[in-house]
Amino acid sequence: MQLIFATNNEHKLKEISALLDERYRLLSLKEIGIVEDIPENEDTLEGNARAKAMYVYERTGSDCFADDTGLEIDALEGRPGVISARYAGPEGNSVKNIKKVLEELEGAKERSARFRTVISLILRGKEYQFEGTVNGRIIDEMRGADGFGYDPVFVPDGYDKTFAEMLLERKNKISHRANALKKLVTFLSQLQSS
Ligand code: IMP
Repeated sequence: MQLIFATNNEHKLKEISALLDERYRLLSLKEIGIVEDIPENEDTLEGNARAKAMYVYERTGSDCFADDTGLEIDALEGRPGVISARYAGPEGNSVKNIKKVLEELEGAKERSARFRTVISLILRGKEYQFEGTVNGRIIDEMRGADGFGYDPVFVPDGYDKTFAEMLLERKNKISHRANALKKLVTFLSQLQSS
């Protein structure tokens, strides 16, 4: 089955490709000639995931999916949430985003947080959504060189390493995106066998 994944983020492509077996052929935006950034103007993860998937569907008519992820920090009332990518402003980057979060959490003892991913799948024109989360905490320094985004400051519950210190295989077993994707794969498998 061929599916377009509405991203050009190499990290995400690698993570998701590793989770799909040979029944699925994944195409990135670049492979289908969409090079522009897809607008993310909605104020929820659900809205953004849907908007990105619909953007691709309207231009290709092909089955596709998109994901949107936010880091929700309890002590910051759920921020950065849907604006995780641009928390430090439009010219920001991951390091600046992390610095802003660490400044806002300075001195805080309560550091619980979760990554939440929403995947929107458009299959023969109909939309289905899947959610995955991973709970953890924000540490007060950056650790590790792998991964991306907020990985260097996020330690998932039950571990003492950050996502950026873990092998991709380990992150892939427990991550928000993996949990959402597993639901999508189960859904597709059930459809194919029915
Ligand atoms: P996106 O809109 O799904 O690309 O995610 C928004 C932002 O959340 C990204 O720019 C990253 O900063 C952050 N993010 C998403 N997924 C992850 C992850 O797996 N680890 C760390 N940060 C992530």
